[in-house]
Amino acid sequence: MIGATNNHMATREVMQSSIDDHSFHLVPQPDWSMPRDSEHVVQFYEADTFLLDMLSDYVGTGLAAGAGCLVVATKAHHVELDERLQAAGIDLLTARASGQYVALDAAETLATFMVAGSPDSRRFATVIGGIIAQVAHGRGAVRIFGEMVGLLWLEGQYDAAIQLEALWNVLHATQAFALFCAYPIHSFGGDALSQRLGDVCAAHARVIPAESYTALTDADERLRAIIQLQQKARSLEAEIAERQAAEASLRTVKDRLEVQVADLRHLHELSIRLTGTLDIETVLHEVLAAALTVHGTNMGLLSLCDPQRQGLKLHVSQGFDAPFLAQVASVPAGGGACGTCYERRRRVVVEDVEVDPIFAPYRQSVRLAGFRAVHSTPLMARNGTIIGVLSVHFRQPHRPSERETRLIDLYAQMAADAIENAQLYQNAQDAIQVRDHFLSIAAHELKTPLTSLIGTAQLLQRRIERDGIVTGAGAKAMHVIVAQAKRLNKMILSLLDVSRIDTGRLTIERTPVDLSVLVRRVVEETQATLDKHTVECRLPSEPLLIEGDDVRLEQVVQNLISNAIKYSPNGGPIAVQAEQQGHQARLLVRDCGMGIPKNDQPHLFQRFYRATNADTQHMSGMGIGLYVVKEIVTLHGGTVAVESCEGAGSTFTVCLPLQPEAQAGIVAERSDMLGNPTHSLKAS
Ligand code: ADP
Repeated sequence: MIGATNNHMATREVMQSSIDDHSFHLVPQPDWSMPRDSEHVVQFYEADTFLLDMLSDYVGTGLAAGAGCLVVATKAHHVELDERLQAAGIDLLTARASGQYVALDAAETLATFMVAGSPDSRRFATVIGGIIAQVAHGRGAVRIFGEMVGLLWLEGQYDAAIQLEALWNVLHATQAFALFCAYPIHSFGGDALSQRLGDVCAAHARVIPAESYTALTDADERLRAIIQLQQKARSLEAEIAERQAAEASLRTVKDRLEVQVADLRHLHELSIRLTGTLDIETVLHEVLAAALTVHGTNMGLLSLCDPQRQGLKLHVSQGFDAPFLAQVASVPAGGGACGTCYERRRRVVVEDVEVDPIFAPYRQSVRLAGFRAVHSTPLMARNGTIIGVLSVHFRQPHRPSERETRLIDLYAQMAADAIENAQLYQNAQDAIQVRDHFLSIAAHELKTPLTSLIGTAQLLQRRIERDGIVTGAGAKAMHVIVAQAKRLNKMILSLLDVSRIDTGRLTIERTPVDLSVLVRRVVEETQATLDKHTVECRLPSEPLLIEGDDVRLEQVVQNLISNAIKYSPNGGPIAVQAEQQGHQARLLVRDCGMGIPKNDQPHLFQRFYRATNADTQHMSGMGIGLYVVKEIVTLHGGTVAVESCEGAGSTFTVCLPLQPEAQAGIVAERSDMLGNPTHSLKAS
């Protein structure tokens, strides 16, 4: 025997010696010295060395017996096989040269007949049949080792491997050769491949188990091995069954969890949408749509309690026609599922309207509407009162699942909260509107008598001063009357401005205005009335021309200066500065007064807003002035901003666009002064 390992030889010797032993059939190990000429054998193997030992024995004995040998193997196996054959004294060079031994690379040979992932029968017959014919020429027998099926198997191309086995069998019908195939047993791991293993075995005339079985020398040992393998197979089957059961229950849990996650996501999305709106109609639409989605239906109603009478008023609906909606537009207590839910203050489930007594009076109309089941849930306010009813309808008889009931309760709670919030907001808006309306009317009504009061008081004051009728305390009292009446008038005018802004009636009349002149005038008028404060004024020598409303801009300057004075209760300097900055006129009013807390600063220009320190220090005011200032400045295309540090004073800055001609002047000046950056800018 050529090239067999000691171990293998020992195995074969035992086999030979027990050839007559009735247990031989338990060890179907081939004896390559006596090959059956046209046999298709498959050998499973665990270790490469075992395969190579078998292979070298197969090829070695074949060559020694004068048979032609064709080996289609991997490169690595060829190298090892050559070494083993040469070590066994085989003259490979001569065998190759004479064509007795043909060695082909498995991957390359496969490529010659594989088409679109499958072996092509014609190409296979041509390529492999041709080679076999050459090897067989002039020789008695041919031995072939084929590893191409093994390669396909390792790549997971199971169908292609089985097809290739079948093609070998087809070739067998016309050509005589012994064919030895090999598959690594580890490539059959997994339950899914047990059927495939059967296919591979069926494709072969003889099947030889892997070496851990065939290497056993004792018949009794082999029988024990079979028992152990059977037991292993059983326990594996049991394990597989257990695993499959566990997988099935995991899948069920996973599916349930996925549904819960989806439900939570829907709830979350709804809550985001609901917190994003305070409009009741939007809230109701969102809630109904979400509830219908969860129930997998497209019919539903959402009604709110009718404050006028005991019953419900329909607000939003989906899936019903106009005649039915007209019938449920207003539902009395106890009417249908909604009315019964309203009356009982709890959930009402009507699984089948055809049999439920609740619907006895309405069968005909619900048939026309096209629903068979209803699920009505009360919407309860935080104080426990009912505010509405959410109903979902189904086209077929339906019993709500635990999940549906749980979800609809949540949706109903969210809806009730959102509706309550929206109602509170609506009430607040209504109250604000009433307040604004009242303020506007009150201001209008107060303005006329006050104007006449001021006029008369001033007339009287002038007469008194001229005629000297009243002096001292009386004259002073007269002065106080006029001053306070003027103050009152100012407040009323501010309120009227607010009303104008709210109704979009505050307008400006543009004429060319020199901001410098305007500021100087206001400062001079103010200075005359001050004792504790000083007002410093810095103005450019050139005019600051803007297209603006003289009266309204004066109001802006007056407001900022009087605030600076008012909120510097300990006196101190006020700085007023107007200047040109680029295309803009900039006005700064700076004081060293009480300043404004950081948190209040972003809100200062809102209607009725007053900084917290103004209230705590009992400074009187209505929080209107800056609101009006901002509106006037905005109407002029400008901006107003504040910088302040509490306790250290504030600076208000107003920027207004310069008149276009003034801007054109700047551009002209700029181009003139190129190359002379220190030249001062001059507005025309
Ligand atoms: P009012 O002065 O009547 O309250 P305003 O709209 O003119 O209303 O001003 C809004 C608020 O801004 C004031 O209540 C005050 O808290 C704050 N404020 C305005 N100007 C100043 C200032 N120069 N210094 C400190 N606080 C100011």
